[in-house]
Amino acid sequence: MKLKGVIFDWAGTLVDHGSRAPVAALLSIFSAAGVPIELPEARQFMGVAKKKHIENILELPRVRQAWSEFHDSPPSQIDADSLYAAFIPQQLSCLESHAELIDGVPHVVARLRARGFKIGTTTGYTRPMLDYLLAQAARQGFEPDFSVCPDEVPAGRPAPYMCYRNAIHLETYPLWTMVKIGDTPVDMEEGLNAGMWTIGITGTGNEVGLTEAEWEATPGDQQHLLVMGAEKTLLAAGAHYVAHSVAECEAILDSIEARIHEGDRP
Ligand SMILES: [Mg+2]
Repeated sequence: MKLKGVIFDWAGTLVDHGSRAPVAALLSIFSAAGVPIELPEARQFMGVAKKKHIENILELPRVRQAWSEFHDSPPSQIDADSLYAAFIPQQLSCLESHAELIDGVPHVVARLRARGFKIGTTTGYTRPMLDYLLAQAARQGFEPDFSVCPDEVPAGRPAPYMCYRNAIHLETYPLWTMVKIGDTPVDMEEGLNAGMWTIGITGTGNEVGLTEAEWEATPGDQQHLLVMGAEKTLLAAGAHYVAHSVAECEAILDSIEARIHEGDRP
């Protein structure tokens, strides 16, 4: 029995080195609401559906307290809704400068297709946001067989429904013949909850958080420390394997196939 499909995340995995677009939009809307947030607060819940992501930030004790002090009352659902309404156009405009494919993606995907793999995707973005990315990615040489957004299933990550929907559309089973590849802890949980193998992306992803230019300007020992931290986080979330980028995943897929052949399951 061989592997049959790969489900990729988008930001930090296929496009947007360092997963910078969501961070920029989140910092901007909280700042405009009078309650600036810190980078780690913006990154902590990366990967979940964007509305839930904003609600989770509002529940952080530090943010809740700062909000209460500035607005004279703790954040309400109405506040979360209005932040989300402000977020949507900000995020769409941030995507315009963060839609570049990460190095090696079209090459690896072509090789996977040649092996007969189906290519699915999941995301924390809404359908209009993902449609923009899909069009930009297609111009650069990447077109998945199928894509699912959180608003099209009962719940986004860490629930497995987006992976299930991909598997149904791609007509692939059993789920242990599929691999989820993403750059955040909830990507790993999503894959595990779906019964798939998981690969956590470190160097190009949210946990390191650097653009390609920033990464290249970072000294080697510092790069090493950043990657070690990302590996630790993703392995703690249940990643079966970690890789610097999608470009390095093919050898891992070979290892997974060898394990399947020996009767091993995720
Ligand atoms: Mg991501």
